[in-house]
Amino acid sequence: MSFLSVNLARVKPSPTVAITQTARELKEAGQDVIGLAAGEPDFDTPEHIKDAAIAAIHAGKTKYTAPDGIPELKRAICDKFRRENGLSYTPPQVSVSTGGKQVLYNALMATLNPGDEVIIPAPYWVSYPDMVLLAGGTPVIVETTLEDGFRITPEALEAAITPKTKWFLFNSPSNPTGAGYTRAQLGALTDVLLRHDHVWVMSDDMYEHLAYDDFTFCTPAEVEPKLYERTLTVNGVSKAYAMTGWRIGYAAGPEPLIAAMRKIQSQSTTNPCSISQWAAVEALNGPQDFLAERCAAFKARRNLVADMLNAAPGISCPVPEGAFYVYPSVAGCLGKTSAGGARIDTDEDFATALLAETGVAVVFGAAFGLSPYFRISYATSDDVLHEACSRIVRFCEGLT
Ligand code: PLP
Repeated sequence: MSFLSVNLARVKPSPTVAITQTARELKEAGQDVIGLAAGEPDFDTPEHIKDAAIAAIHAGKTKYTAPDGIPELKRAICDKFRRENGLSYTPPQVSVSTGGKQVLYNALMATLNPGDEVIIPAPYWVSYPDMVLLAGGTPVIVETTLEDGFRITPEALEAAITPKTKWFLFNSPSNPTGAGYTRAQLGALTDVLLRHDHVWVMSDDMYEHLAYDDFTFCTPAEVEPKLYERTLTVNGVSKAYAMTGWRIGYAAGPEPLIAAMRKIQSQSTTNPCSISQWAAVEALNGPQDFLAERCAAFKARRNLVADMLNAAPGISCPVPEGAFYVYPSVAGCLGKTSAGGARIDTDEDFATALLAETGVAVVFGAAFGLSPYFRISYATSDDVLHEACSRIVRFCEGLT
């Protein structure tokens, strides 16, 4: 009998983490590599947030905390939901974890039984299906199309719902496409959910603050208050506040669900880092003006990348509403051969040859469940993006 758990055989390692690691190793070996695979802001954590953490250390706030968050942070989260989303929650309806990732994981572990289905639109954030599998559930993948802006349609959602559906896992703006749902588009989905009262919504709002042009962020419980009792609204400080390493995510939802998630956390990680929680209090309660400045920088980068990629033969790059990713199609490159002699039959072939021949690391679309595309994270400087896109354009020009 294998020493390793049979559960482990159900999941694969995160491909984005693996590609980021390969790019790092090539760079360390002296190769000229540009990594556009990692999903984290290049900006630093703002000084006032760092200062709050340092003050917490000096004040001795370095001990175990309540399992799912200190009261001060839970209050700051309730204030944030009221202020930014028009949602009313009380502290017992809030759970704080070690990153948004653990919030999602706890919620799935707390609710899924064998046979339970979770509807996940594709392309999806790489961890969703594997987390569902680890929790013993069944991911039900619903592919979207470039023509629909990578948004699941109400018809496709309706068709995917069965008596076994437990959750609809919703993410806007999306990783990996950057696609955001308008209030009307989301309302069409919540209308479907109103007709199926056994289906709950897990809304991953991690990229809420990265929204461009006239796109206005909205979240399911706000758009359809009748879903409040069966919605878990998930968010975190990683992306908006450039705090990926601090590991603080949070969620609000019905108290029995939050209590179930607390039970799992108390028996796994005990509590999120005390110092990071104090930093997150400052992130949510402190000045918010830098968010708009950073958003403007991301928007300019999005435009730069989309413009340059759309000039590359064989590539078609939609201009998304939010997050810091683009998800261009490589349909026009398939069946060709690169200047270095690699045959490009899939998006993985494209990404592999691109890295080998130009040193640009991107993540192939199959990793996110929809081909033939690739994801670029544009959370890096304009100069680096310009150089990376120039190399991609040259690579595509070399395809025959
Ligand atoms: N949800 C989405 C869509 C993400 O892209 C990420 C991180 O990449 C997370 C959740 C998890 O974020 P955290 O760093 O808070 O665990």
